[in-house]
Amino acid sequence: MTNTDTPNSHIETSIEITVNGIRLSVSANHSLIQALWKTGHPNFKSASCLEGVCGSCRIMVKYSNQPEVDMALACQSQVESGMQVVFPQYLEKESPALLNHRYQLQSSVESEQQLKAVFPEAAHCRHCHGCTVACPKGIDVEQGITLANEGKLGAAGELFINCVMCDLCTTSCPENIAPNYVALFARRTTAVNQPTPPNLANRLQALQRGELTIKY
Ligand code: SF4
Ligand code: SF4
Repeated sequence: MTNTDTPNSHIETSIEITVNGIRLSVSANHSLIQALWKTGHPNFKSASCLEGVCGSCRIMVKYSNQPEVDMALACQSQVESGMQVVFPQYLEKESPALLNHRYQLQSSVESEQQLKAVFPEAAHCRHCHGCTVACPKGIDVEQGITLANEGKLGAAGELFINCVMCDLCTTSCPENIAPNYVALFARRTTAVNQPTPPNLANRLQALQRGELTIKY
């Protein structure tokens, strides 16, 4: 115990929340993910970086003092008494938004045409703002799609620098556009048309020669 601790400073307050329709008593002053871990519920379906993918803890959340439902990430949401949370199931496999967009990266001259060929649905953006409203990282997703459609792939990719691939924008899109994958294409095609940094090139060559091992 430190000098600043009081005798009761380690007693945790419990609050009531609802997760996927289940009432839970959890410790206050934690993020939702931390609170669920402490309660012994680390694996709500489609949740948790314990499954190895950052961005998988997307939630729909309603706080008791507000009428609307927000999209958010469970790891960034503080638990509050009375909050109601749903972990949306992953998109249906047959969803057009999850079609496997396969491509070989090409030169910047061709990348605009390639975007239209690989993501033809992007041109159908109806500017409904749904993706931007849904993004828990505050990215102007709609603007990113607009820039990509205008062939400004570098600028489009830059907008998504903080994207965690939670797919909430994809889930929200009535046109079955997957904005985060459009952005990934934009960033990849921009990167492939830049000179490779010397340190990275040296490292990759050493790996190809078998001179470096990767420790896990
Ligand atoms: S851009 Fe889409 S996938 Fe990326 S963080 Fe925002 S909502 Fe999630
Ligand atoms: S949700 Fe889809 S249609 Fe609406 S603005 Fe975003 S990309 Fe366009």
